[in-house]
Amino acid sequence: MPDTTHPNSWDARAKSSSFFGFTDLPSIEARGTVVLTHGEGPYVFDTEGRRYLDANSGLWNMIAGFDHPGLIRAAQEQYARFPGYHAFFGRMSDQTVMLSEKLAQVSPFESAKTFYTNSGSEANDTMVKMLWFLAGAEGQPERRKILTRGNAYHGVTAVTASMTGKPYNSLFGLPLPGFIHLTCPHYWREGRDGESEAEFTARLAEELEEVIAREGVDTIAGFFAEPVQGAGGVIPPSAGYFDAILPILRRHKIPVIADEVITGLGRTGEMWGCESYDFVPDAIISSKALTAGYFPMGAVILGPELADRLQRATREVEEFPHGFTASGHPVGCAIALAAIDLVETELLDRVRALTPSFEAGLARLAEHPHIGEARSRGLMGALEAVRDKETKAPWDGDLSVSERIANTCTDHGLICRPLGQAVVLCPAFIMTEAQMAEMFEKLGAALEEVFDGLT
Ligand SMILES: *Cc1c(COP(=O)(O)O)cnc(C)c1O
Repeated sequence: MPDTTHPNSWDARAKSSSFFGFTDLPSIEARGTVVLTHGEGPYVFDTEGRRYLDANSGLWNMIAGFDHPGLIRAAQEQYARFPGYHAFFGRMSDQTVMLSEKLAQVSPFESAKTFYTNSGSEANDTMVKMLWFLAGAEGQPERRKILTRGNAYHGVTAVTASMTGKPYNSLFGLPLPGFIHLTCPHYWREGRDGESEAEFTARLAEELEEVIAREGVDTIAGFFAEPVQGAGGVIPPSAGYFDAILPILRRHKIPVIADEVITGLGRTGEMWGCESYDFVPDAIISSKALTAGYFPMGAVILGPELADRLQRATREVEEFPHGFTASGHPVGCAIALAAIDLVETELLDRVRALTPSFEAGLARLAEHPHIGEARSRGLMGALEAVRDKETKAPWDGDLSVSERIANTCTDHGLICRPLGQAVVLCPAFIMTEAQMAEMFEKLGAALEEVFDGLT
């Protein structure tokens, strides 16, 4: 436990100086904050010298660990060469051009154009503005509605929080009008009594048809989906889901945007999550692992059709009036080039090599009577805690069961993340088999401890 007793402790200083987002306040009031100083491989160290294995690779992004020499060198060299420039008025850094070429090469598109932001939220927000800009320019100003799914996470700006399918956004009076949430494709939780997985998938496809008919196809600007939902609790879609819905979206000419902020750059065992599910979207949103977490950066990667349409629309009004001061930052681009190279040459193979033991570790913990479901794809996984395995009844929310598990893990030197009643694991791709074993051993011990205390 961190030192919470002294008024000048790091904990006290953090609490009196900083406003915490996405943080359970009762939890840090009782237990203190964890202030970190540095990392080694997949481990991080706090101000009191305690070491934690970070089973979440930061926030899904630190795929190469916390001290990768090649990435640090790429940053240092670029800082020395050209430490900053924008991408407005027809100017951009050479690194920015090189990264766009590289993204086109590794994308599933025959050709691609990339637009840069500083975060995943800004990239999704930018994509929505691109679709709205197209609607206006192509003489269909009413084509503005955005389709997403329950439990989706697309970010925190007013627009991307509206796309996000989480109940907490009602605290902000969101979603804005025109953001429509379809059923989350989670068979285990959303499937009805006696409904097979195939029937469930078919029902979701029917729902999509109905929503398009109800809203009017001419009012819909685009459909956004994470290939595997991440912050919703690691939810791979039900079997056949994308095969069932994509033909409907294609038939109605609704652009399909893959939000690959988590799944991009190798997390699912392919370069892109859409490749794991065998589809090519119209655009890809990338962030998080794009710079292996070593620089804030997001990217909208436009496939050829959307890129052409946007080019045409822009020509008519002279410019696309949108961009961020640090869009296409040369240091971020230099790091991303090094990160993609690392994924291509080493890390994708590591993900594939580690996936069997990751799956086995999850399956072993799923035998516990209070784990209702283990789900994963590649190196993203979750264990769902339940009070009753048969009925899938959750624990009483007041018990904060997943917070308890995560807090107990922290006490044992393992960082993992509570999400609803699930615990999320998304290890760095550089983990060794021994570190993977340590992760499951510590999590298993925490599960025993917490469930023993509850029953
Ligand atoms: C994290 C995330 C975002 C938002 O990215 P930020 O960089 O936090 O703004 C968007 N979409 C998905 C799928 C994410 O996981």
